[in-house]
Amino acid sequence: MSTFSLDPGADQLAVRDWLHGFAADVMRPAAAEWDEREETPWPVIQEAAKLGIYSLDFYAQQYFDPSGVGIPIAMEELFWGDAGIGLSIVGTTLAAVAVLANGTDEQIGTWAPQMFGTPDDVKVAAFCSSEPDAGSDVSALRTRAVYDEAADEWVLNGTKTWATNGGIAAVHVVVATVDPALGARGQASFVVPPGTAGLSQGQKFKKHGIRASHTAEVVLDSVRVPGHCLLGGKEKLDERLARAREGTRSGKGRNAAMATFEASRPAVGAQAIGIARAAYEVALDYAKTRVQFGRPIIDNQGVAFQLADMKTRIDAARLLVWRASWMAANNQPFTAAEGSMSKLYAGETAKWVTAQAMQILGGNGFTREYPVERMHRDSAIYSIFEGTSEIQRLVIARAISGMPIR
Ligand SMILES: Cc1cc2nc3c(=O)[nH]c(=O)nc-3n(C[C@H](O)[C@H](O)[C@H](O)COP(=O)(O)OP(=O)(O)OC[C@H]3O[C@@H](n4cnc5c(N)ncnc54)[C@H](O)[C@@H]3O)c2cc1C
Repeated sequence: MSTFSLDPGADQLAVRDWLHGFAADVMRPAAAEWDEREETPWPVIQEAAKLGIYSLDFYAQQYFDPSGVGIPIAMEELFWGDAGIGLSIVGTTLAAVAVLANGTDEQIGTWAPQMFGTPDDVKVAAFCSSEPDAGSDVSALRTRAVYDEAADEWVLNGTKTWATNGGIAAVHVVVATVDPALGARGQASFVVPPGTAGLSQGQKFKKHGIRASHTAEVVLDSVRVPGHCLLGGKEKLDERLARAREGTRSGKGRNAAMATFEASRPAVGAQAIGIARAAYEVALDYAKTRVQFGRPIIDNQGVAFQLADMKTRIDAARLLVWRASWMAANNQPFTAAEGSMSKLYAGETAKWVTAQAMQILGGNGFTREYPVERMHRDSAIYSIFEGTSEIQRLVIARAISGMPIR
């Protein structure tokens, strides 16, 4: 275990500066256009792939950075550039993390590279868990996976919703129930390989924010995947199901799943911080240059104190995110759900800071001539996806109390 430190080190700072250049020079100038088009910004993803920013290697390097802050630093810079394009660039990692967390080494080696494609032929991946009747309550999902022993194939049927990159992805990772009577304990994750018959895109959603990121339903109509597409393998699943049927709960599986969430939530928090920082910087510049009553508006404490609070909350959120990321990298137990805490605080901070930024820009803040209204729209998703703010509070409350709070 290394001593807790907030020094990212020279290598991480170099990565941060490199990503900042890409965010400032490529993402920012493209942000308004792709927000209006509400389409996946393939040319920007391609550019990121050519530079090595959209690649399995890059994320693996950041993920295994011993300081723990490689991923949050990368997320903050990219989402400072633009959140919609940022999510198009990093959405694939949701599916990649599902394979990393649940797959065998062979499965990771087979599927993770296919999720990204190559710089000349870029691909994206989708993680499909949510359903129309199963959002926060993941145990309620209905998509069924039935094993066809004769063919050694799994047959998937159901409808997924809200899937980032759903239907346009090369590889889809689908969570399905194998034994509905067991609730969440009867579920498993499956890879649906590129071009598999029966998987189609349903409705594509028109959204309030992160509009450059594709969000859609995914329909699974008798989708057949080979037995080896079950993440973790059949033997492990059978053992897990047997334990669940006996009613024995070692706590090991549940703790592993919790640890995975706690470790991934700070990365989402870091995205929110990127948006908040971007809006704060625009507001600070504007407040220094906008003159009313013969002086810059920042000369008024009413405005200056708003900016002071914005900066304070952003830095506090980053400290929570970095602490949780460091804890994950150093295998520290999340006794107070510190990962959820960081996502909750960063998400709420982004919503609040971007709203303040709009206020400081006055009428201009309300128009699409300035980026803060887009940043405000983009920030709103951060209290919803990857666990709503209420669900984060539930997780934290249970962790600190040890009580089954509902
Ligand atoms: C743009 C976007 C991208 C997404 N990407 C993906 C993706 O790639 N893959 C994927 O699987 N999913 C994805 N999601 C789904 C997302 O994770 C869900 O929307 C989220 O988990 C909330 O589920 P829900 O929308 O069904 O809301 P609900 O669960 O119906 O919640 C509605 C409200 O009730 C509250 N609530 C629910 N239960 C409780 C409780 N016990 N206590 C207190 N309050 C509660 C919630 O906090 C919320 O305010 C995405 C969603 C969006 C909008």
